[in-house]
Amino acid sequence: MALMFLPYGKQEIDDDDVAAVVAVLRSDFLTTGPAVERFEAALAETTGAAWAVAVSSGTAALHAACFAAGVTEGDEVIVPAVTFLATASCARFLGAEPIFADVDPNTGLIDPAEVRRRVTPRTRAVIPVHLNGATADLAGVRAVAPGAVIIEDAAHALGGPRAFEDGSMATFSFHPVKHVTTGEGGAVAGDDQEKRARLLTFRNHGMVRAEAALRSASPGPWYYEQQHLGHNLRLSDLHAALGNSQLRKLPRFLARRRTLAARYDRLLAPIDGVEPAAGPTSAYHLYAVQIDFDRFGVTRATVMARLREAGVGTQVHYIPLPMQPYYRDRGWRPEDFPGANHYYGRALSLPLFCGMEDGDVDRVVEGLLLALEIDR
Ligand SMILES: *Cc1c(COP(=O)(O)O)cnc(C)c1O
Repeated sequence: MALMFLPYGKQEIDDDDVAAVVAVLRSDFLTTGPAVERFEAALAETTGAAWAVAVSSGTAALHAACFAAGVTEGDEVIVPAVTFLATASCARFLGAEPIFADVDPNTGLIDPAEVRRRVTPRTRAVIPVHLNGATADLAGVRAVAPGAVIIEDAAHALGGPRAFEDGSMATFSFHPVKHVTTGEGGAVAGDDQEKRARLLTFRNHGMVRAEAALRSASPGPWYYEQQHLGHNLRLSDLHAALGNSQLRKLPRFLARRRTLAARYDRLLAPIDGVEPAAGPTSAYHLYAVQIDFDRFGVTRATVMARLREAGVGTQVHYIPLPMQPYYRDRGWRPEDFPGANHYYGRALSLPLFCGMEDGDVDRVVEGLLLALEIDR
């Protein structure tokens, strides 16, 4: 019998998720309705924040959080050199410049000492990324960038430890490979009420309706003001209903991910040259390993192709941003980021999702050993 192909990540949708979305379709509100409010309340509780604002994607969440942080033209936003494109693009959307800080060569997490080197009077925000679900050193970053707003890119870390100090925020993504999904979706969470107000208007075209916030006296109930540029970044009630249903399962999803990760840890422990990239506090979005491909004399491309043939999907998270043509054109040089280059050169993400069986982990590890030409 042919074995099921194992992608590196995948959603888990049950009948109750389907029923939750169908119920919204039969209701009065497809958007801007009660499912969104419920989702935001549940997210605030899950993340330990005073509030959460749901938006249309993790990218939108980063964009909106930068706006709420006051990021504007000429500002600088420090981001790790190893992350997804969106962590840096959000600064560019507002006319600011992403400034890359090098990362720890073994974990890929932002290095506070490198942040310190990059801080200038124009630094408005720093966006540490909890890569793979491992916890970035927020206290270390805060200590070297005291004037900056901290925006945690927690797309990999829903359910991990959170603390919102000094007006900091965290952003999340609900893309199907993440811990819980809404199809497409995202959110910003935090404690600072002023930032929440800015997020709500930015999500909705910059429209202000509250009497107290108007610049002119209201002539009647239709009145609104655009006080700054905004966008339509709203999440629909269909998406939010799926999110509500999924969020209830987060504890089970996290427990399953940790169990699978522990099994990988155990099976890989005896293999010199293959090290797990994430520490024990990880919320395990990805099961990322660092492989010394040179030592095995096999390229990563070959290993990935062999695994694919064996029915195992893998991915590389991520190509360092200074390597991207867009940022080379803006003057960045990849050779200035030895930590990022080391991490990237050895990175491979193995399949990790809740629907995996224990035996699937064994199958992935067997396939990896064969692909690396390791005899046991
Ligand atoms: C997924 C992801 C994003 C973007 O989220 P989308 O919902 O896909 O827009 C941003 N940062 C990181 C680290 C991510 O993994």
